[in-house]
Amino acid sequence: MLNADLHCHSTVSDGTLTPEALAARAKANGVELWALTDHDEIGGQQRALEAARAQGMKYLTGTEISVTFAGQTVHIVGLGFDHRNTALVEGLRRTRGGRGERAQEMSDGLAKVGVKGAYEGALKYVGNPELISRTHFARYLVEAGVCKDTPEVFRKYLTEGKPGFVPHRWARLQDAVQWISDAGGIAVIAHPARYSFTPNEEYALFTEFKAHGGRGVEVVTGSHSAQEAVRYAETALEFGLAASRGSDFHSPDESHTDLGALPFLPGQLTPVWEWLADRIQ
Ligand code: AMP
Ligand code: MN
Ligand code: MN
Ligand code: MN
Repeated sequence: MLNADLHCHSTVSDGTLTPEALAARAKANGVELWALTDHDEIGGQQRALEAARAQGMKYLTGTEISVTFAGQTVHIVGLGFDHRNTALVEGLRRTRGGRGERAQEMSDGLAKVGVKGAYEGALKYVGNPELISRTHFARYLVEAGVCKDTPEVFRKYLTEGKPGFVPHRWARLQDAVQWISDAGGIAVIAHPARYSFTPNEEYALFTEFKAHGGRGVEVVTGSHSAQEAVRYAETALEFGLAASRGSDFHSPDESHTDLGALPFLPGQLTPVWEWLADRIQ
């Protein structure tokens, strides 16, 4: 089976490698079909496409859109769209819009528990001024010695109920799916096992996603166990969705799953790239 890795992050969002360095690493790890999927941003797509070409890898355009659904943040990966599509470009620009203010509020929350200067500290790690994320705060808090690693920062400071967490309203599910689909791509529910929905809410997510034109789900990802992959393979079949595979690689120092270093998709599923054959560059 094809070694496809259709989920990772560069310095254009919260990864630590440039699109070019990611392409070289993907190639070295045996990736044959690659997509760069920066959060709420497609500013790295042209560079990624050119880097993939230079490495002799096939490429699909990609992004990972932050969505609010039933009070939680859900990530929708978009693949194979036209990255010059105006509605998509504009929708993503609006989705990024509140991040600066949110970051200031996160910093205020952290200051109240004695962690000073977190906004300025996080900024040192930001590669794209429009995309300051919790990951950048986590890196700074490790540097400042507040925590030993980024998972600990998330656990103690950056998740719901913790001092640096600021609730945020992201894009609507239907809008994210529509931006991707109208630009010729396929929308994919990212890492479904990472949400904490009730069974009813999860059923509603998949049902509404499909009704809005969503066509794929990540089954094999760096953030799924083998059992979770089996579970969402069944969900893919139940909802008639194609299956995607992606490491969600962010950094050589932080990510436990390297580019391309994933189990293959279970055999009975339709790989999403089969439905995107005419979009592969
Ligand atoms: P944001 O879009 O600013 O809310 O940041 C979300 C990003 O934070 C995700 O894409 C992950 O890269 C990272 N993240 C979220 N939860 C965790 C966690 N528990 N441990 C490590 N990184 C996390
Ligand atoms: Mn991330
Ligand atoms: Mn995600
Ligand atoms: Mn991701």
